[in-house]
Amino acid sequence: MRPRSILEAAVTRLAANEAERFLARHPKSVALAGRAQQSLYGGVPMHWMSDWSTPRPLFVERAQGARFYDVDGHEYIDFCLGDSGSMFGHSPAPIAAALAQQGANGLTCMLPGEDAVVCGELLTERFALPFWQMAITATDANRFALRWARAITGRKTLLLFDGCYHGTVDDVMVRCKNGRTTARPGLLGQAYDLAQYSRVVPFNDVQALEAALSSGDVAALLCEPAMTNIGMVLPEPGFMQSCRELTQKYGTLLIIDETHSLSTGYGGCTRLWDLQPDFFVLGKAVAGGVPASVYGCSFEMSRAMQQAQQRAGQQSAGQHGHSGMGTTLSAGMLAMHCMRVNLEQVMTEAAYAHMLDLAAQLAAGLRGVIDKHGLPWSVTELGARCEFQFCPHPPKNGAQAEAAFHDSLQQALHLYLINRGILITPFHNMMLCSPQTQPADVARLLELLDAALTDLLA
Ligand code: PMP
Repeated sequence: MRPRSILEAAVTRLAANEAERFLARHPKSVALAGRAQQSLYGGVPMHWMSDWSTPRPLFVERAQGARFYDVDGHEYIDFCLGDSGSMFGHSPAPIAAALAQQGANGLTCMLPGEDAVVCGELLTERFALPFWQMAITATDANRFALRWARAITGRKTLLLFDGCYHGTVDDVMVRCKNGRTTARPGLLGQAYDLAQYSRVVPFNDVQALEAALSSGDVAALLCEPAMTNIGMVLPEPGFMQSCRELTQKYGTLLIIDETHSLSTGYGGCTRLWDLQPDFFVLGKAVAGGVPASVYGCSFEMSRAMQQAQQRAGQQSAGQHGHSGMGTTLSAGMLAMHCMRVNLEQVMTEAAYAHMLDLAAQLAAGLRGVIDKHGLPWSVTELGARCEFQFCPHPPKNGAQAEAAFHDSLQQALHLYLINRGILITPFHNMMLCSPQTQPADVARLLELLDAALTDLLA
């Protein structure tokens, strides 16, 4: 069968119908959106919350397990899960209990408690790095790991993969354009030239990677083990091992950010693929959705960190040191307690077994729906998450993934799903299965996608 294509006119028609349907079915969200315009910049508490596919922001009333409910009383099966913050379900019962308990026993104190020690022990057991530090967001954890890497190596340059996202860290806001590193389009308020100390190469390109490292000035390679923020891009066999070998060869540190790929399995890709990073970063879901992040380091790094601290201490001549790392609420009592409970009771091997099984069903189902309609699309699968992309073969790097974007179609499909009670990750087509997601939820998503495509191809 020849691949079929979806006409832009059909996309426009579907998008218009769905926008109308949304407005009619969500009077309370529409009213709140109007009211929010009076006090919130752009009518939303975070400016990108107005970038979803809906004609007005969708206001949520509550969320539980794999579901949430909007202010108009509609129920949704959530395959976005807060873009991973709720990877293990919304408000897991042990986290709700931990919040209540710790809520009455102190939230933040600038001092450690036993929970923090248990977190360190559990993180070591799970991710096989001996030492840990805590922060609040994955952005911060990445920023701190980078600062350590520069302090340790005495080098300034950072290497990244084109199309990456590691939070709003200045240094990572770069893209590759005609082989050159440039600031990310759309960046606001940038004061200095990011290309000065950041370098970008395509994912899965060993030659480009080695060329970038060989100048000997790169402090760290910061990467996800599989790209998940420009559509999903899996590493080719051996690519992550090349990342490890080549960084070692050129004296560059390897920082693996598993904030999203934590969904790959118990211990993340780092454990499953034996990645042996120098630094390792996790955020979002690590405390069950309560703001917290961590970074771990190898034994060698911990010694190098001590030496860097000693050097800095000598320079500051006994004065109180400011390392440029840490925030006041980091490792607060509430976050530490929730992280402990999450590691002990929520992020379990049994939870992963369920998530992985369902995601495999979902990916197989997606391929079935795509085949049925003869569309030249592909499905990329990584543990508990998968993604369909508008290209015949899974992309190998960020530029290929981006070239497959079809924004109007993506937005129309997402809105179609939202109007019928399904949420998937915005801005691309990624879906995540939680421990509470059920086979019937997966079946419903597939049924709706099938119906949307039937409509678009009619
Ligand atoms: N790292 C990765 C891989 C991410 O996907 C994200 C957010 N999408 C971040 C870091 C930043 O997380 P946060 O916004 O919680 O700081």
